[in-house]
Amino acid sequence: MAFPNPPYAGSCLCGSVKVRVTALPLLTLACHCRACQKFSASAYSLTTMFPKDSFICSGELVQGGLRSPGRNHYFCKSCMNFIYSRVGDASPRVNVRTSILDNASSFAPFVELMTKYKMPWVTLGLPRGFEEFPDTDAELQSLFDGYASYLDAL
Ligand SMILES: [Zn+2]
Ligand SMILES: [Zn+2]
Repeated sequence: MAFPNPPYAGSCLCGSVKVRVTALPLLTLACHCRACQKFSASAYSLTTMFPKDSFICSGELVQGGLRSPGRNHYFCKSCMNFIYSRVGDASPRVNVRTSILDNASSFAPFVELMTKYKMPWVTLGLPRGFEEFPDTDAELQSLFDGYASYLDAL
């Protein structure tokens, strides 16, 4: 497999937050929603989803975003780089911002989400796409399965 094996390391812009991941990613994605456009100050966000238990983060974090219940967005306290998010404290997954990973270029997005908000000049041409978010656990599982096969074929 040409895809790099774990562990993966990453850090924020200033280097005071460091992450380490000991598992293969579950899924890589680009999200075109308006919140991600604002969060990333760009056209879309890049996320690499890992099992929560495989993710270690050191350094001081602050919570940002809207701080709405069940949506936790963590940033470096010093340089304010967006590090990761979680959907609720009980989620078995963590959404790492792909760009902070040392080998970010290996984590090409597999699926794009919220394409109905896509900037009209963005063309990613990814294997999978959704106009909104996947609605069901079965759809999400099919993305995990599809991504695992995609990694195997690299
Ligand atoms: Zn920092
Ligand atoms: Zn989004």
